[in-house]
Amino acid sequence: MDCIFCKIIKREIPSKDVYEDDFVKAFYDINPKAPVHVLIVPKKHINPAQGFTQDEVEIIGNLFLAAQKIAEKEGVFQSGFRLITNSGPDSGQEIEHLHFHLLGGKPLGGLVGN
Ligand code: AMP
Ligand code: ZN
Repeated sequence: MDCIFCKIIKREIPSKDVYEDDFVKAFYDINPKAPVHVLIVPKKHINPAQGFTQDEVEIIGNLFLAAQKIAEKEGVFQSGFRLITNSGPDSGQEIEHLHFHLLGGKPLGGLVGN
């Protein structure tokens, strides 16, 4: 499968890693949109645009747990942060592998960009 995030997880292409556990890998976004911009990715290839299954609930829950740990590690747990996940054409989803963008380090403004 030609998926950039699967290749990062298999260490076939490099990433600046922030966090890893059995379910999740997290690394800095290559084109950061905020002082803190981390991508939090399940190790299993899941495309949100195709829907989730019940057996993926544990993985999805672990993404949120990882996000809290990463927010603490990056120093934005107290100041606040935003988690975004894109799904399907109108969202602008570029990579067909589920990921949260963890953004913070400055006031982030309105919810929806233009
Ligand atoms: P999305 O539009 O939600 O699919 O977001 C994809 C994100 O992946 C974008 O913010 C890109 O900057 C980021 N990205 C693409 N390739 C890489 C890479 N090799 N390493 C880190 N981030 C990447
Ligand atoms: Zn993938």
